[in-house]
Amino acid sequence: DVSISLRNIRKDYDSQTEVLKDVSADVQTGEFFVIVGPSGCGKSTLLRMIAGLTPITDGDVLINDKVVNDLPPKARKLTMVFQNYALYPFQTVWDNVAFGLKARKLNQSDIQHRVDHALEMVNLTEFSKRKPRELSGGQRQRVALARAVASDAEICLMDEPLSNLDAQLRIKMRQEIYNLQRKLGLTLIYVTHDQVEAMTMADHIMVLNDQHVQQIGTPSDIYQHP
Ligand code: ADP
Ligand code: ADP
Repeated sequence: DVSISLRNIRKDYDSQTEVLKDVSADVQTGEFFVIVGPSGCGKSTLLRMIAGLTPITDGDVLINDKVVNDLPPKARKLTMVFQNYALYPFQTVWDNVAFGLKARKLNQSDIQHRVDHALEMVNLTEFSKRKPRELSGGQRQRVALARAVASDAEICLMDEPLSNLDAQLRIKMRQEIYNLQRKLGLTLIYVTHDQVEAMTMADHIMVLNDQHVQQIGTPSDIYQHP
């Protein structure tokens, strides 16, 4: 059961900046799919094309077997977690998580239920009235995760979500994201430049390099020679 298909994707920002040449991949429903590769190889660009945040030069993105090239981000039924978390500094944790749901005009009790549930899932219930600046880095990261949980989207895109955390916290949050993905049965596409992260979390890994897909496989396919 394929959730996302990338078919012969090409991306040029302009004639001087050819970023990706011929990227194809299938992401199965419910899998943890990691895109790994050196800085600047186009990982973020690829994720943004799946989200509909930047246009594709050539090729197709399919979500649940439908070409979505011309669909705006909101119509794609996915949620994205950014590197910098993108929190509203003057709103409480609770309101940060509720924001997208209010924008979708869900009813009050539905919003209440979803936000409370999402905060519980990431162990932030007791911090719901705080502002982002009153939180640690890991807690801020959890607010961003709670947002994704509250959205109820089946597909989640994460762009280097742990890169602003110190090494110890990164390992802890890695485990939390892994557990969350499994518990919710999310189809998760996770971008990182960290091979260890890729290896410990992924069902499948896509290695991007030099504008191409170098390899797609399970962690043991890809990292069998230590
Ligand atoms: P990664 O996420 O792997 O670090 P990016 O997708 O951010 O890579 O960037 C890939 C390449 O595209 C880089 O050379 C970067 O400078 C270029 N690039 C990214 N965004 C833009 C943009 N909006 N306009 C022009 N070039 C860009
Ligand atoms: P508004 O739409 O005016 O923000 P809400 O009823 O959504 O009003 O929320 C009012 C305030 O109460 C918000 O600032 C929010 O931080 C807080 N709040 C609402 N529900 C909860 C909850 N379950 N737990 C903690 N704080 C909440």
